[in-house]
Amino acid sequence: MTTCRSAREIDCLRIAGRVTARALEALVKSVVPGATTGEIDAYAEELIRKQGGEPAFLGYHGFSGSICASVNDEVVHGIPGRRKLIAGDLLKIDIGARVDGWYGDMACTVAVGEISPQARRLVETTKESLLAGIAVVRPGAHVSDIGHAVQGVVERQGFSVVRALVGHGVGRQLHEEPPVPNYGKPGNGVVLKPGMVLAVEPMVNAGSWQVRTNPDGWTVVTAQGCLSAHFEHTIAVTALGCEILTVSSDATLAQSPAVAL
Ligand code: MG
Repeated sequence: MTTCRSAREIDCLRIAGRVTARALEALVKSVVPGATTGEIDAYAEELIRKQGGEPAFLGYHGFSGSICASVNDEVVHGIPGRRKLIAGDLLKIDIGARVDGWYGDMACTVAVGEISPQARRLVETTKESLLAGIAVVRPGAHVSDIGHAVQGVVERQGFSVVRALVGHGVGRQLHEEPPVPNYGKPGNGVVLKPGMVLAVEPMVNAGSWQVRTNPDGWTVVTAQGCLSAHFEHTIAVTALGCEILTVSSDATLAQSPAVAL
């Protein structure tokens, strides 16, 4: 059952989204060669708490970080720790904040120093695929239309979409109904209605789409050892289209492919 949120509830989710986005915006600037993922994680917690939020991931099913920090072939759910970033790394930061019981969830991929042209193209394609997925969100569209749009952008560039992990609803819980796959045929699944709130989060591999989980029980890596990228926004379906909730400015962004990630 997918919940439709009232205007007042969307206001609360907008606040949580903004706290999340402001934290990530500041955090990205701390990503430099020599920084450890643990240091970046500690800064993330500080940034969220300073704004009156709580890190949504900390303690979630026993997760030990405030962010997921996944490097290179790590797709998602990397555990922050002593790993030192080096120039050429691709760091995926997934971050969530809870504010007054409401959640924001977003992710981005950050280049550590100079990265290869292929890595650059992977990052740009993944960002573009998220925006393409968001661009089809409007009342009456089906949830699978999002994944169809994402997959089209990704596969045109010769990359592949991870299947084993999907986006989700967001609200009073970090993960709510419905699942939001990043692949598939259009016209399936939940029909979108104003007030639905979704996390759209393409995970894109430079090789095959298959993934496996490391022995730590968390870190999802590409099966082939190839690079992976990830971007995510929490969005609300509106009467006319959608609004991205995980933005750092006061501006209300209707669906706009020009929005910065
Ligand atoms: Mg998410």
